[in-house]
Amino acid sequence: MGLLLKIFIPLLGLALAFYFYPATETFSEEMLRGKRVIVTGASSGIGEQMAYHLARMEAHLLLTARTEAKLQKVVEQCLKLGAASARYVSGSMEDTAFPEVVVKEAENTWGGLDMLILNHIGYSQFNYFNGDVGDVRKLLEINFLSYVAMTVSALPMLKESGGSIIVISSMAGKIGSPFAAPYSATKFALDGFFSSLRHEFDIDKVNVSITVCVLGYIDTENAVRAVSHVIRNTPAPKEECALEIIKSGVLRQRELHYPSWSVGSLVLLRDIAPNFLDSLIRSNYNVENIR
Ligand code: NAP
Repeated sequence: MGLLLKIFIPLLGLALAFYFYPATETFSEEMLRGKRVIVTGASSGIGEQMAYHLARMEAHLLLTARTEAKLQKVVEQCLKLGAASARYVSGSMEDTAFPEVVVKEAENTWGGLDMLILNHIGYSQFNYFNGDVGDVRKLLEINFLSYVAMTVSALPMLKESGGSIIVISSMAGKIGSPFAAPYSATKFALDGFFSSLRHEFDIDKVNVSITVCVLGYIDTENAVRAVSHVIRNTPAPKEECALEIIKSGVLRQRELHYPSWSVGSLVLLRDIAPNFLDSLIRSNYNVENIR
């Protein structure tokens, strides 16, 4: 037993160190200077914050979301912060033609693309699943299929530039969570699709990186409004989250876990103690506040 512990504990320590160890290449803001970047869902929340970081780093920006008035303001702010250029195209990702419209806009404006940041999500209720299959289908269109469609349209340009795809996912895309079944399904779909595609790129020597960002609870206005009455955790800051996403994409990491310790631990627990994890998750919810 003693010998087993002597071997097991250092091995576990080593495994954890590898698991949590950050990328060895270092990030510098110049890596983004002059890069051509599309950010979806850029009118609010994490997408808006990513746009501001990228603007300070002097990237060229094409932003998209539905609400034109908000996008106009974000673009103005990006130009003040130092963006090499900033423009927007407004529309809904529920419209199956729209993903290609956005990518075409980048092609017509820049003639190429370095980074595609897929971040938007459609509205979903934080509540017991109500049995509405139509809602699930609609959410799959917005949160998943439009990501696939944008990737397909952007791939020729990304192959040419040796560019990057950044996919914003969630803990709910790694671990089942109550009151978010349709949302969780769309995020699991992203993980499956983009993790498979990454393999194919590696096998086929396609020099396009895919970074899947697995986020915990972040303090965006919409997320706090939707879940703060039920989830006991303190949300992490959206500004830092946005910066970590950009860094992970530029450094071509396969996955980002943010906040790293809590997301990393929960994903690890999922594999070694799933029943314990389930009860831990439920203990963190004020279920009586579900409306
Ligand atoms: P958010 O503030 O609600 O922003 C969502 C963005 O998507 C907005 O720009 C919204 O703008 C746009 N959008 C909504 N419906 C759309 C549609 N039909 N077509 C096109 N765009 C649409 O979200 P967030 O909290 O920043 O989350 C950003 C990403 O992080 C998401 O992928 C989310 O799943 C992930 N994440 C967030 C958290 C969190 O706690 N905040 C946790 C885990 C993962 P318009 O309304 O103007 O269209």
